[in-house]
Amino acid sequence: MRKTWSVLGLSLSLLLPLNSWAKNHVVVVATGGTIAGAGASASNSATYTAAKVPVQQLINAIPQLKELADVSGVQALQIASESITDKELLSVARQVNSLLKKPDVHGVVITHGTDTLEETAFFLNLVIASDKPIVLVGAMRPATALSADGPLNLYSAVALAASDSARGKGVLVMMNDNIYAARDVSKSINIHTDAFQSQWGALGSVVEGKTYWFRQVSKRFNQQSEFNIENIQGDQLPNVQIVYAATNMSPDAYLAYAKNGAQAIIHAGTGNGSVAAQIVPTLKQLQQQGIQIVRASRVAAGFVLRNAEQPDDQYGWVVAHDLNPQKARILTALALTKSKDAKQLQTMFWEY
Ligand code: ASP
Repeated sequence: MRKTWSVLGLSLSLLLPLNSWAKNHVVVVATGGTIAGAGASASNSATYTAAKVPVQQLINAIPQLKELADVSGVQALQIASESITDKELLSVARQVNSLLKKPDVHGVVITHGTDTLEETAFFLNLVIASDKPIVLVGAMRPATALSADGPLNLYSAVALAASDSARGKGVLVMMNDNIYAARDVSKSINIHTDAFQSQWGALGSVVEGKTYWFRQVSKRFNQQSEFNIENIQGDQLPNVQIVYAATNMSPDAYLAYAKNGAQAIIHAGTGNGSVAAQIVPTLKQLQQQGIQIVRASRVAAGFVLRNAEQPDDQYGWVVAHDLNPQKARILTALALTKSKDAKQLQTMFWEY
């Protein structure tokens, strides 16, 4: 960019690189969570109220953000993420979608509670048809705690969203220096700052505001996804519920959900998504009534094999592949907006 100054009647011209003047515009979309939490004292790292600090205060607390990007803030929600329903999920997706449509917005950072961050990330990964960077970030310690992890996480998230290298890589989760893919990251530790993990590893790292990449996702996301927030009406998704398996379980929960209108039930099965002998007849019967049965696993890593443990082809059941039960809920709810056919649902589980 050419900049011209007049000094004592003389014109001084300098040729400067564009990026020394115009920084990429990153919007921080705040939704609440611990990253916006406040405790009674600095030693309260685990006892605090989530979703207290407004977005502008989060941004102002890190003056170094200005070195990375032209940052603005939007307060989309102010809640703890365990209370997010499909209504909030859809609302956040619509807000992110309209922000990314603005030509001057380079990317968005969504500050979010860590409890269900992976679900919102995966949902956005499936419904936002944009290759602009979308980065979710949280914190395990409130903003008021000693060694709060939120500021550095947010700094790295803004660096990532401002970078050109994050374009077209799918929705990303930035936690504890690591860049994760929305589809396979999960909150795996509920008390320490290295709370997020993916069984397939991180995609890369952000160190001192610089991005380093090591892997890419081979599944469909964003512009390659058949789902689009612009085609979803209203503030609810198809009703999909999860039942957690254990020894001595009874079929009551499945029957209650079916009675109350569930269109699909995710079976968070033991091991390879296995189903206890006393539960099999109930799941067969519900499938025959038109309720989709998706076998996932309560085990954090691995993937559920089709027709192993149970004859899925014979029963018309679906397997969740490597998606955990909560992500299987998200994909099944979206899948049901397109099809009620178990074979088509299964194809979606292989592809996303
Ligand atoms: N319960 C909080 C939430 O998900 C926890 C967190 O943000 O770490 O909003």
